[in-house]
Amino acid sequence: MAAKSLGYRVAVLDEITDGPACSCADLSITASFDDLDALARFAEAVDVVTVEFENIPIGALEFLETRVPVRPSASVVRTCQDRVLEKEFLQNNGFPVAPFRVINSAEELAVALSELNASSILKTAALGYDGKGQISLKTGDDTASAWKQLASPRAVLEKRISFTSEASVICARTHEGETLCFPVQANVHRNGILDVTTVPAQLDPIVLQKAQEMTSAIAAKLGVIGLITAEFFVMENGDLIVNELAPRPHNSGHHTLETTMTSQFSQHVRAVCGLPLGSVELRSSGVMVNLLGDLWQPGEPHWELLLRETGLFLHLYGKREPKAGRKMGHFTLLSSQASLLEARAKAIELRKLMKPGAGLEKIFERI
Ligand code: ATP
Ligand code: MG
Repeated sequence: MAAKSLGYRVAVLDEITDGPACSCADLSITASFDDLDALARFAEAVDVVTVEFENIPIGALEFLETRVPVRPSASVVRTCQDRVLEKEFLQNNGFPVAPFRVINSAEELAVALSELNASSILKTAALGYDGKGQISLKTGDDTASAWKQLASPRAVLEKRISFTSEASVICARTHEGETLCFPVQANVHRNGILDVTTVPAQLDPIVLQKAQEMTSAIAAKLGVIGLITAEFFVMENGDLIVNELAPRPHNSGHHTLETTMTSQFSQHVRAVCGLPLGSVELRSSGVMVNLLGDLWQPGEPHWELLLRETGLFLHLYGKREPKAGRKMGHFTLLSSQASLLEARAKAIELRKLMKPGAGLEKIFERI
């Protein structure tokens, strides 16, 4: 949508028919990511390729790279789609990460858990998202059954960090090496899934600056062209630990559609197309809350509650099946910086009330 609004024609290659991006594509190719004929046709049709998520087989991106610029490159995507490579990249370049061990077997898991000697999280190396593919472990737990349950050939065991808050920074980097960070945003997760994001993060200015500088340094070290998002754990003393990276627009940046001069989506298009980056100045502070499929139980949510609200922007992604834990949409509530906390409480309350059966029916009856 951001590319279209800049006047570009868009081609989409996806494995599923009628994927969400197809509705704004001028050309849609449905093919497996290892179908070289389809990849060749796709490369022929476009001037530049980008990715919407990082779990694309690297072979497909490497093939495309022989024909057309791929931004971010296959090597950046490879690092970010594998927790082991990502953590090793961060650690080898001096970026702080949680203590971790690479795990290839139940035996290695048992050794690692006793070495870390702390409450830990076992995470699959590949294909994890929204807290899926993660198991909490503490000293003395049954590592053999945890390994079996994870059912993954490779994983990392990571020490559970006692952070005071979580934050993320989205940084754009051009092919000329210019970087520009969006304002730091504060994130709260529930059950491993992003729940609420507040911008700007209410943190010490020194911590904010450090988070942006670290994200720019990561972008430069990786050599990303496009966006890179760094997720951070913020410690009580202001230290930062990098949790993970995403080489693309990020859920915690969806509010930029309304809160900043340039949205993260538009910035991504600018960076991959070689255009000047846009201003990331805040137009307004705001709060974004995610809408998960759970809200559709036992029926359609009360949309009118949101639609009546001034300064509230609702985005639904058109997913047909509202499954529990599935991200169906989000809304952003704008506010002044002074009343950001009240806006946050209000946004969470609105989400609670829009769920069918949450008591709103009684209020309507009274009216
Ligand atoms: P996504 O891709 O949606 O961000 P993910 O499945 O890759 O999620 P992580 O970012 O690794 O998952 O973890 C999700 C959340 O779980 C974190 O944002 C944090 O709240 C919690 N978490 C993960 N690792 C740790 C840790 N080592 N210590 C404490 N909390 C953690
Ligand atoms: Mg994460």
